[in-house]
Amino acid sequence: MSLSQAMQDLKDRLKASDRMPLVFLGHGSPMNAIEDTAYARSWADLGRALPRPQAILVVSAHWMTRGTTLVDVSRLPKTIHDFYGFPPELYAVDYPAPGAPDIAREVAALLASHHAQGDDSWGLDHGAWSVLKWLYPDHDVPVFQLSIDMTREFDWHVQTGRDLADLRNRGVLILGSGNVVHNLRAMRHGTPHDWAVAFDQYVAERLADRDIAALADRRGMGALLQMAHPTPDHYIPALTIAGAADAKDRLAFLNASIDLASLSMRSFVFY
Ligand code: ZN
Repeated sequence: MSLSQAMQDLKDRLKASDRMPLVFLGHGSPMNAIEDTAYARSWADLGRALPRPQAILVVSAHWMTRGTTLVDVSRLPKTIHDFYGFPPELYAVDYPAPGAPDIAREVAALLASHHAQGDDSWGLDHGAWSVLKWLYPDHDVPVFQLSIDMTREFDWHVQTGRDLADLRNRGVLILGSGNVVHNLRAMRHGTPHDWAVAFDQYVAERLADRDIAALADRRGMGALLQMAHPTPDHYIPALTIAGAADAKDRLAFLNASIDLASLSMRSFVFY
């Protein structure tokens, strides 16, 4: 199936399903929040196809915690401008969606084995709002974030997805936001690095095979993982989304391209 056929299949089936899809978006530059890019247009297009959730749980690369997993229980999560040196228009973006404190507390309970706790110190970082702004431009769907505990192994983050999977049957859209390849030091104009193409392909193939264990096999991925992700923060949300998928799900890719040689914008939807 071609990418566009897969997208049409996705749109047709989403309408008929009462189970929420799982979405992972490669967010790339914060400027995608305000610029009319092909990525922004694809997110808006996806947003029009998605069902309207009761709430959105976002696992963003940009909320990193150490030794704890936090769930945002605030009533009105604040828009966090967590970047430096961007134009004023980007700092002016506000995404005033309500929070979902009751569901967030349930999520903390679901993740009891992860010692998850409710917290109201965060809000929405740009990993969340730069894509939500396009998916749900009216900011009328309650949204809350889950942090990623950077001290844990990849299996832990896959298990997080498994523990959350049943929320899909209760109208909660689980959205991961990161990048399949994210090496900012290796960015350049010109053709993608070989290792970026190789890792992007590796992830796409393992997802298609539902070989989630291979995606979590740090040793098996070795040097390729190290090049693609000098730090794993942008990869981890993809693991959680993959962990929440099951054998019944279909898979569609979008934005399967690599920006600035080392930033994969590949996004995927299980539905
Ligand atoms: Zn990012």
